[in-house]
Amino acid sequence: MNHRNSPNITIILKMSKVAVFSSKPYWVEWFNKVNKSGISFTFFDMALCKISAKTTKGFDAVCCFVNDKLDKEVLEELKNCGIKLVLLRCAGMNTLDNQAAKDFGITVLRVPSYSPYAVAEFTLALILGLNRKTHKAYNRTREGNFEISGLLGFDMKSKTVGVVGTGKIGLEVCRILRGFQCNIIAYDVIQNKEALELGVKYVTLDEIWKTSDVITLHTPLLKETKYLICENSINQMKKGVMLINVSRGALINSKDVIQGLKTGHIGYLGIDVYEEESNYFFEDFSANGIQDDVLSRLTSFPNVMVTSHQAWYTMEAISEICNVTINNLLDFQTNNLKSTNIVIPPPSS
Ligand code: NAD
Repeated sequence: MNHRNSPNITIILKMSKVAVFSSKPYWVEWFNKVNKSGISFTFFDMALCKISAKTTKGFDAVCCFVNDKLDKEVLEELKNCGIKLVLLRCAGMNTLDNQAAKDFGITVLRVPSYSPYAVAEFTLALILGLNRKTHKAYNRTREGNFEISGLLGFDMKSKTVGVVGTGKIGLEVCRILRGFQCNIIAYDVIQNKEALELGVKYVTLDEIWKTSDVITLHTPLLKETKYLICENSINQMKKGVMLINVSRGALINSKDVIQGLKTGHIGYLGIDVYEEESNYFFEDFSANGIQDDVLSRLTSFPNVMVTSHQAWYTMEAISEICNVTINNLLDFQTNNLKSTNIVIPPPSS
């Protein structure tokens, strides 16, 4: 059934009430812009947690973002409030206790892909920014300093870039790097035909560590990928290597990376994600200071760029996220779910 054109469905959907957690003005703006189905969104600034979950009675669904906790305790509160549907407005699912969601009969849907281009292009923004030190040049010229000493970069052409994970985002990174005439090597548990067609050469992880000038991570956070970057892998890397992580914070052991930065073994670090980011990212701590000494140390290095999980944040991506989230709700109600968007299926299926 095509619910988008059905007047009956629109009447049903007028009753749909969604509690949106970890909201910001941009979520309000874009959900309201995209919502053509009469869904009632209530936006909460607070993150979803055991306490805020208690406020969901009377809603038909809750909508969560990357750092909202969906552990057993939270899911149990949601179940007690009658919530049967969780809409993730993101692709990653590492905060979810899958078994608990299944046990409590809660369906979980996600947005598997919204704009791999947004994240891939941001990856290049970090690589080029760190390489050519544009962040420093910007500050210098604003203060009337037109000196270029200390801003020396390197040509990307012919450098070896190791791409770990060649799914949707990793593949787009490879496509862009091809334009820079880089030598692209990759590691993935599944080889991507399109990456092979681009001339990407699959190698072992050890070879990635040993031969890359730049290493960029594009895998999900799994048991097998946690702390992929650690003392052992760093020790195998070229001196002065550039590391980029726009995927999930815990792919990197931050303390080991700080050690590598202090010795100069790691020459550059660009991270859009951080293992303990849920305590800080998306919020303003400029007046309070940061209690997390690891994060504080990372932001203090001149050759480190830390951004606050913004790689996805383009107009095209946020519009698509809101669209797919709304369609996931409609599909749930019309029993017409897209298999790619299902994390936990409805109990009856
Ligand atoms: P994807 O599922 O299309 O690709 C992931 C790739 O990782 C797949 O090719 C898979 O085979 C590979 N993989 C799985 N296990 C692996 C392992 N053990 N070793 C090596 N490779 C392995 O996902 P995607 O859309 O490309 O997204 C990648 C990650 O980017 C997401 O999991 C998410 O964490 C992150 N992400 C970040 C942002 C951001 O704003 N910073 C936005 C979107 C996604």
